[in-house]
Amino acid sequence: MTACNPALDLDRLAFPLSDEQRLLADVARSFAWDRLAPGAHDRDRTGEYPRTFVDELAALGLLAMKVSADWGGSALDNVGYVLAMEAVAEADASTAVILAASNMATWIIDQHGSTEQCDQWLRPYAAGELGPVSFALTEPHCGSDASALRTQAVRDGDGYRLTGQKMWITSGAFAGLHLVFACTGEGPRGISCFLVPAGAEGLAIGREEDKMGQRASGTVALHLDDVFVPADQRIGEEGQGYGIALSALAAGRVGMAGLCIGIGEAALAAGLRYAADRRAFGKRVLDFQNSRFQLADCRVELDAAWLLALRGARLLDQGHRAAAESSAAKLYASEATGRVVDRMVQLHGGYGYSREYDIERYYRDARITRIYEGSSEIQRLVLARALVDSLEVPA
Ligand SMILES: Cc1cc2nc3c(=O)[nH]c(=O)nc-3n(C[C@H](O)[C@H](O)[C@H](O)COP(=O)(O)OP(=O)(O)OC[C@H]3O[C@@H](n4cnc5c(N)ncnc54)[C@H](O)[C@@H]3O)c2cc1C
Repeated sequence: MTACNPALDLDRLAFPLSDEQRLLADVARSFAWDRLAPGAHDRDRTGEYPRTFVDELAALGLLAMKVSADWGGSALDNVGYVLAMEAVAEADASTAVILAASNMATWIIDQHGSTEQCDQWLRPYAAGELGPVSFALTEPHCGSDASALRTQAVRDGDGYRLTGQKMWITSGAFAGLHLVFACTGEGPRGISCFLVPAGAEGLAIGREEDKMGQRASGTVALHLDDVFVPADQRIGEEGQGYGIALSALAAGRVGMAGLCIGIGEAALAAGLRYAADRRAFGKRVLDFQNSRFQLADCRVELDAAWLLALRGARLLDQGHRAAAESSAAKLYASEATGRVVDRMVQLHGGYGYSREYDIERYYRDARITRIYEGSSEIQRLVLARALVDSLEVPA
């Protein structure tokens, strides 16, 4: 079963969109509907990584959405990025998170890499010759507190030797390149960022995680054992890695809000269709007032999530930092989608608990969105800090 919505009415959002953004949303939606949706259910079961589709997405320019045209990318703005993420996630959240991680890593190279690094890595990436790029920050003992990294990068002649472990790395086994954060000194100011190609000597890929949801996104650990990285493959200066990672958060979070909304839209469409079809006590389930109220609440919450995501994206496109706004978008979209999938499972009755129905997958796929890319608690910390900082009287 598939529950993608190929005719999502963007005008309903009353948000100004350019022709280019609409075109991009259409391209992403058509691809998602035609290519990703039909096999998403089976890939969820088998955990098969959508390698072919990642290559096809590269051909459409959707793998290098944010890479500048100088390097062959689509140079898409953040509003366009939200629309594309939503469309892909509506069909297949696993593929959407692959895009999210890869686009974040390559945006960092684009923004912070040297001309030589961009030429070496972004050109083949944008041309689809490199596969995805992984973003390797999290370690087994720390995720939210990225300043506590233990992976060491020890200077050795004209390069560094990297030793440590990375955990939960999306696309880790399939990436042609890994963006690895490691310590060249103490604390957050001692973190640096490195480009490590697939197959580097001493780099081993861990077993694939058997996850609750987004099961086809290829999540693995990376083991680094004395991996030599030439100094010209360090991004930025020594000690700039933490700031580089933080610089990508706001745009990553609005994109993630788009991913959440995609899952929510798919769930709402599935619930609406099911309720129109299923009968109880001589009526369609859709005709019970409670069903309608549940559907109405989903519509309102998803629309609110859309508007927060598009606001965050627009502010970023206008050059604002938008830290609080992007946190608000990601926090609200992930939690609203959690409520949407829960209501729509309920509307399906017992069938909502069956693997036969897509709603069961949406329910599982939605859960991680409150944890990765900054958990709900971390987003609340960011939002609360912005409020406290706005006080004129110091504590
Ligand atoms: C499917 C999947 C894909 C992922 N992909 C990637 C990837 O590609 N690259 C990558 O680097 N990482 C990736 N991650 C890792 C993800 O970003 C982390 O899991 C996330 O940041 C949370 O870190 P943690 O799991 O270590 O939890 P912890 O940081 O240990 O947090 C545990 C709990 O404590 C709460 N908590 C922590 N600090 C605070 C605080 N200050 N105040 C209140 N509560 C707090 C958290 O919100 C959470 O509820 C992925 C994870 C998953 C599951």
